[in-house]
Amino acid sequence: MANPIALVTKLAKEGILDSESLKELIEARNEGLESFISVKARKVLSEKLGNKITIKGRISLTNRCKSDCFFCGIRKSNMNCDRYMLTKEQVEERVKLGYDNGIRRFELSSGETDDIADADICNIISSLKESYPDITIELSLGEKKYSSYLSYFRAGAKGYNLRFENSDAEGYSRLCPMGSIDNRRICIAYLKQVGFDMGTGFLVGAPFGSNDINAGNLLYVKETEPSCIDIAPFVPHPDTPLAKFKPGKADKTLFMIAMLRLICPTADIVANEALDVLLEKGRKKAVTYGANVVTVSLDSENACEVRSLYGKEIPYEEPEKTIASVRNKIVKLGFEAV
Ligand code: SF4
Repeated sequence: MANPIALVTKLAKEGILDSESLKELIEARNEGLESFISVKARKVLSEKLGNKITIKGRISLTNRCKSDCFFCGIRKSNMNCDRYMLTKEQVEERVKLGYDNGIRRFELSSGETDDIADADICNIISSLKESYPDITIELSLGEKKYSSYLSYFRAGAKGYNLRFENSDAEGYSRLCPMGSIDNRRICIAYLKQVGFDMGTGFLVGAPFGSNDINAGNLLYVKETEPSCIDIAPFVPHPDTPLAKFKPGKADKTLFMIAMLRLICPTADIVANEALDVLLEKGRKKAVTYGANVVTVSLDSENACEVRSLYGKEIPYEEPEKTIASVRNKIVKLGFEAV
């Protein structure tokens, strides 16, 4: 086995390793190596993207979903999930709240649903852009037709985030039985063709995964050249078929965030909320491993995607408070919050 320090150095220099070396590096993770790679990742972040950390406000339009992914709290078969659907006015209200608190980058998310017509999504996007020309709108609405993606782009959305969760065909179908990795790859290609800043990512430590698959996930991220990367540790939701599986490791996710910073130096990398579910100050640590985007939920208490996704025991905090506290932590780490 190659010296892991040499592998990190090679990864930083060449931007990729072969599959076997990526796997070896993941498996060699220990405290010393974590510290070494995090310093490298921070150096690359500062050289390529400067000293700024973006706070992105996320609003969940609806937690309805027609799909049934085994790990997901808003899967259609979860009868314990209280479903909601925001009106256009409610979306505007949540964006105003974020805007008034200094946020300029927003993500509108939802389960995969046909309950909101494309025309209504476009209408929300264009009217938000009219009211706030200086905001960036990203979407995360799942798999759609090419024509739908194109209409959202033309309405003014700049980015679209679609995680692939697991790049291995069998692993994917054991997590998302109604879909296929082939179709996910097609949708990711569509997003790029349309002209979106495409975002993608995967689950770390999900059942049926392995470090071979993790290496494959990293290679697939490299291949797609995303503008934004969002990886998250698997969090077992109590109302899903995977409730009894062990959670993914937050430390391993942080390590892979640092690897991704070396693999895709100029991409935005998200410090995902799931890190905070599993590890105290998990998102804060992610910033020290090369993440440069922190998402903040702008949802109201009774229409809150984070709680739908990870379980209702997650305490709710008013978004104004969260934004102020996230901004404060970013500044304390020596970064500028934008
Ligand atoms: S992961 Fe996405 S598509 Fe799958 S059930 Fe959850 S919201 Fe629906």
